[in-house]
Amino acid sequence: GAVDKIKEAGELVLLTNAQFPPYEYLGDDNEPTGVDIEIAQKIADELGVELTVVDMDFDGLIPALNGGKGDFVAAGLTITEERQQSVDFSDEYATSNQMVIVTKDDPKVAAATVEDLEGKTVGVQLGTTGDLFMSEVEGATVKQYKSALEAGMDLANGRLDAVVVDKLPAQSIVANNDALMVYDDVLTTEQYAMAVPKGQSADLLEIINKVLTDMSGEMEALTQKHFDL
Ligand code: GLN
Repeated sequence: GAVDKIKEAGELVLLTNAQFPPYEYLGDDNEPTGVDIEIAQKIADELGVELTVVDMDFDGLIPALNGGKGDFVAAGLTITEERQQSVDFSDEYATSNQMVIVTKDDPKVAAATVEDLEGKTVGVQLGTTGDLFMSEVEGATVKQYKSALEAGMDLANGRLDAVVVDKLPAQSIVANNDALMVYDDVLTTEQYAMAVPKGQSADLLEIINKVLTDMSGEMEALTQKHFDL
């Protein structure tokens, strides 16, 4: 099984995209940190191995997982039907929403509804559920970025009408940029889970789920801690 191989190798390899605060971001030492990284460390501890974090583009995570480049993905990853075709998901460990960021002065999108986004130029992170959501909005021009942080900068610079991204990253972007604000209304409700290669890692999944259950009581405080950093 997967666990035997991980123990033999002495390392658990996490695939993530460290551009998604508070779940994963680069800390002051330029090393990936965040909620998912701390959970991953507990999973490695449970297995008695070292944690190795591989930081890559979000849209490359599932292909890399299925190409054998890592043992699991933890990346604020939303459970979707399409992804369920190619990976096995752990238990859910967080609820999120897609939210709309606009400029504070003279917002170009009036409110956070699909109708308000129609015909607008909207930034998203490539391959995310925000990208998927916007691909179905009529007449919208969708600009795909490597990270929502970059999209936020282009919004502040007047190159976009709005950015659609997950709730806590949206709040983090806005907290770090006085020119931006986020609407309270939400476009979607989503569940985050970790992912392992399909049909190959039931034993690893069991350990991931055990750690998620063990940590469920501290998840809120852990999230708050990384949000405040
Ligand atoms: N939750 C979103 C998704 O799964 C975005 C995740 C991310 O950008 N790290 O597509």
